[in-house]
Amino acid sequence: MNELDRLEACLPEWVETSRRESAKGTVATYIPELSKSPKHRLGIHLIDAGGRSVSAGDAQAPFTMQSISKVFTLILALMDHGEEAVFSKVGMEPTGDNFNSIMKLELVQPAIPFNPLINAGAIVVSSMIQGDSAANKSARILEFFRELAGNPSLDYNLEVYRSEAATGHLNRSMAYFLLDKGILGCGVEEVLDIYFRHCSIEVTCADLARMALVLAKDGTDPITGKKLIPRRYVQIAKTFMVTCGMYNGSGEFAIGAGLPAKSGVSGGILTLVPGRLGIGVVGPALNPKGNSIAGVHLLERLSSEFNWSIF
Ligand code: GLN
Repeated sequence: MNELDRLEACLPEWVETSRRESAKGTVATYIPELSKSPKHRLGIHLIDAGGRSVSAGDAQAPFTMQSISKVFTLILALMDHGEEAVFSKVGMEPTGDNFNSIMKLELVQPAIPFNPLINAGAIVVSSMIQGDSAANKSARILEFFRELAGNPSLDYNLEVYRSEAATGHLNRSMAYFLLDKGILGCGVEEVLDIYFRHCSIEVTCADLARMALVLAKDGTDPITGKKLIPRRYVQIAKTFMVTCGMYNGSGEFAIGAGLPAKSGVSGGILTLVPGRLGIGVVGPALNPKGNSIAGVHLLERLSSEFNWSIF
């Protein structure tokens, strides 16, 4: 029996076992619209390089990418400007703090955010996307994501976008700080509009899995054969995913699952088995670190049973 056959056989039951973990977690409420997400939802979709896929649970349910989008805006900024320019404005180190922490912003000299996957760093990255207006920069991001997902109908969830734009005061305060330090490439409301929009791009587990597959295949979409990302930038993105992708839960996830991954507060997780599989998961109940509690449970079990750890 090959791996996908085995996955097809075990996943329905494993999803139900992991789904029970959701009771211990909490759905994000600081973006009011996200508080409506069903707490006990859990879905997974996996796709291999031959295009064969397996899914289980609530894999069809749509959700917003939130912080998962940060991996791909980083890649787009790298494609626009190159490594040197991007890393003059954002660092490469994990923080050990919450994803939206403002605490360490002033601690390093020059005052640049620790890494591109925490909110402050991602806001700087959003300000680096090329385009002659905010609308044009956002359109480039959406177009890039559509191509990576092989899904031309990806779009914003405008309720979630408006909900965050109306309440994202902590992100707003970080953007003002960054503006003061001279590291924002545009104005505060412009960068936040770009940032809130890419966080609100709506996907399913299948979209995430397909985007992850491009990373698993070093930047080439194996389904179309198109080279979408230079290999070096995929390498950078995957390294950040291992060290910072699950925020201050990254070390634990590296030990538990050992896969490059990126989570979002909507409960999504994008992960991959290098060279072989792209994986998308959703489970809106979060652990205290802001990662899907049932999703992490399921991925740790899968990785250990199928021996996926890269370490
Ligand atoms: N849009 C969210 C925010 O800025 C993303 C955070 C996340 O997914 N962890 O707070």
